[in-house]
Amino acid sequence: MSEEKQSLNKILDVENEIPPTKGIYPLITGYVEESTGHLYDRIEVEEMSGVEEALLIDKTIPLRERLDTMMMNVVKALHPSAEAKAKGAVPISGDRERAFGVQSLPSGESVTILVASRRLGHGDTYEFKEKCPNRNCQKVNKVTFDLKNLPVRRPKSKTERTFEVAIRSGQKFQFKVLTIGMDEQLEDLTKATNDKFTAQIFVRMIGQSEDVNFEYVKHMKSADRELMRKAIRDHEPSITTDTTVECDSCGTEWTSDMEVFSKGFFFPTEI
Ligand SMILES: [Zn+2]
Repeated sequence: MSEEKQSLNKILDVENEIPPTKGIYPLITGYVEESTGHLYDRIEVEEMSGVEEALLIDKTIPLRERLDTMMMNVVKALHPSAEAKAKGAVPISGDRERAFGVQSLPSGESVTILVASRRLGHGDTYEFKEKCPNRNCQKVNKVTFDLKNLPVRRPKSKTERTFEVAIRSGQKFQFKVLTIGMDEQLEDLTKATNDKFTAQIFVRMIGQSEDVNFEYVKHMKSADRELMRKAIRDHEPSITTDTTVECDSCGTEWTSDMEVFSKGFFFPTEI
């Protein structure tokens, strides 16, 4: 084992670093550099500071902008896959290249980044309290997430960023994987159309003829739209951030989400 590899392993094992201020975490898929085809499938994350704490609660800045800045602040580098490294790829840490790399990551990786940053700052266990929704009970239950072992959906390919969907008639459509950089476009489209389901599909469609516009996709039959949604799920990474909670007093079950985009996720002690 080379010296470099040893030191990398040491950083990877963040729990043994006391106190860790930096860590390297795996992405579900990663960033594919277009000019070289190299895959960067790990991020180097730095612990948050008061700067991010202030930023996260600053309501004068739109949430999307706050999250983008936060992600840029905590992701210090993108690290190449073993295969890319063998071909000479080096970590991406320059401001412009790093920003481009982060923005080019599949949208689902924003959760990977935020979870990694949270693990680094506050450890692998995320706990909060929630009231039982049963009106006759209302017992306060503890909800616990093991951030190290959240269920992850992995696309078959780590590097494919476009895919084709055939609907029942045999007609084919080209899609691209939604990136972090496209999230804003999706939000704008959703706001402008007030139709988040069609926006979710249409924002990913590429190179269509003029006839295949937003209205066209909106009027497609449900079963065909479901084929498109299924293909999107199969080609894009995601992390499950909700869990089923069972009240320890009355047994009522409900779904609780850990809301990674909320400030409580990063700053659990609200004072
Ligand atoms: Zn209950």
